[in-house]
Amino acid sequence: MKAMKYKNYIRGRWVESKSKEVFEDLNPATGDVIGYFQKSTSEDVEDAIDSAEKSFGSWSELPAPKRGEMLLNIAHMIRERKEELAKIMTTEMGKVLTEARGDVQEAIDITEYMAGEGRRLFGFTTPSELKNKFAMTIRRPIGIVGLITPWNFPIAIPAWKIMPALICGNTIVFKPASDTPLCALKLIEIIEKAGIPDGVINFVTGSGSVVGDEIVLNKKVRGISFTGSKETGESIVRKAGIKKVGLELGGKNGIIIMDDANLELALEGVLWGAFGTTGQRCTAASRVIIHEKVKKKFEEMLLARVKKLKLGNGLKPDTDVGPLINDAAVKKSEYYTEIGRKEGARLICGGKRMQMKGFFFEPTIFTEVKPNMRIAKEEIFGPVLSLITIKDVYEAIKVCNDTEFGLSSSIYTENMKNAFLAIEKIDSGITYVNSSTIGAETHLPFGGVKGTGNGTREAGIEGIHEFSETKTIYIDYSGKLQKAQIDTENIK
Ligand code: NAP
Repeated sequence: MKAMKYKNYIRGRWVESKSKEVFEDLNPATGDVIGYFQKSTSEDVEDAIDSAEKSFGSWSELPAPKRGEMLLNIAHMIRERKEELAKIMTTEMGKVLTEARGDVQEAIDITEYMAGEGRRLFGFTTPSELKNKFAMTIRRPIGIVGLITPWNFPIAIPAWKIMPALICGNTIVFKPASDTPLCALKLIEIIEKAGIPDGVINFVTGSGSVVGDEIVLNKKVRGISFTGSKETGESIVRKAGIKKVGLELGGKNGIIIMDDANLELALEGVLWGAFGTTGQRCTAASRVIIHEKVKKKFEEMLLARVKKLKLGNGLKPDTDVGPLINDAAVKKSEYYTEIGRKEGARLICGGKRMQMKGFFFEPTIFTEVKPNMRIAKEEIFGPVLSLITIKDVYEAIKVCNDTEFGLSSSIYTENMKNAFLAIEKIDSGITYVNSSTIGAETHLPFGGVKGTGNGTREAGIEGIHEFSETKTIYIDYSGKLQKAQIDTENIK
C-alpha cells in the first residue's frame, strides 16, 4: 500500500490541519508506514464544531425515516466494499482477515439496524392521573456529539457510534484512534458518498490530548461517546462537566469451566476468547476460572492447541494470530509476563516477543494463578491468559467478580443451576452460557458495569437512548387549570 497523505473532513471538504504537520500510520505486522494523517490542533476542532453547529438545524429537522434511507445507502456501500475495507483493516490494525471481515460486517449490521430505527425512535404514551389530560414522551437529538474511538474495532466501533448519532438527528465531530485513522477515513468517505449533507459529520485526526481534549472541553458539544481505556474514560468524565457522557471501557473477562462442562466446546471458546484479535478485545477472555476436577485435563488440551497457533501477517490465510497494535502493546505484555513470574504464577507457554518484523508476542499462558495477583486483576490487552482453579460454582462466581471491571463473562456447564447462578450473580454487562466471552450482536445492548462504564449501553435500542434525550409532553384538554398531585384527590 502506497503511503499517502490524508486530510480532515470538515464542512463537507477535505482540509489540512492548521498545524501543517502530520503523523505516521503504521502497519503493525511490518512496521511500515502506510499513511500520513493530520496532526490537528484545537482550532481545527473548533472549526469542526462550528461546522456541526451550522448543520444541526437542517439535519435534525429532516424526518428520521429520510435519515434512515441515507443510512441504508451507507450500509449498501459498506457491503459493496467489504473485502477492500477488511484488507485495509488487517493492514492497518493487524487482526486476521476473517476477523476483519467480521468487523466490517458489524458495521453493516449496526447501520441497517439504525436505519430501521428511523421508522421507530419510539417514545411512549401512558395514562395521566387527571381526566382530559394526555401524557407521552418523544425523543430528541442531543445536539453536537463528540465521538472518540479506539483502534481495536476500527470500523465497527465508529459505526456503532456514528449511526445512532445520525439517526437521532445529531451532528458529529469524530476523532478516531491515532493507530487506525485510515479505516475511520474510509468509513467517512462512504458516508460522504452516501449523501449525508455537508457538515453533519466532521472528521478530525490527531492526538487524544489535543483533539480529544478540545472535543471534551468545548461547551458547544453536548454529548460525548467514548470507547477506550478506563484511565482516559475517567479523565473525560472529570473534564466533560454536565455533558451527557457514554463510556465503554476495559474488561478483565472470565470464562468459568465447571466439572460438568463439555471440555471440547470450552476449549474452542477459550482459544477464541483469549487469542482472537491477539487478546485485544474489550471482551477478550483473559482469565479461565476452572474446576479443580478438570483443570489438569483441560490445561493439557489447551496447551496442545496453543502450541499449534501460527503467528504472522493477518493477510496470510494460514495465520491464526496477528500482531499487537504497536510496540508499546508488546512491552505491556512483556511487563505483565514478568509480573506474573514474580508473583509466583507458573508460565507454561509463550511469554516472549517474537524476533521478527512487526509487533508480535507469543500466545502466553500462566497457570496456578491466584485471584489476587495483578495478572488476574488488571487488563493486559494482549495474548496473555491466566488459569485460576476453583472448587465449586460459588467460588467461581466470587473469583469472576473479583476485578474492577464488569464487561463480559461466560460459563461452560451442562447444569442448569450453575448456568442460572452465573446469569444472576456475575457482575457483568454480558454473560454467555456455553459460548466464549465474545460474540455481541448489534440489536442487543452492549456495555458493562463497575469500572467498565457509567451505565450507558451501545447498540440495540439502548444505542438510541445514548444519542437522544427524552422529552415529556402533557396535553391538557380539560379547559381548566388541573393540578397534578393536588386535584387528584377530588377525582371520582
Ligand atoms: P485509549 O488510549 O483510552 O484511547 C482511546 C481513544 O481515546 C483514542 O482515540 C485516543 O486518542 C483517545 N484519547 C486518548 N487520550 C485522550 C484524552 N485525554 N482525551 C480524549 N481522548 C483521548 O484506549 P485504547 O488503547 O485506544 O483502547 C484500548 C482500551 O479500550 C482497552 O482498555 C479496551 O478494553 C477498551 N475498549 C473497550 C470497549 C468497550 O466497548 N467496552 C471496546 C473496545 C475497546 P489517541 O489514539 O490519539 O491516543
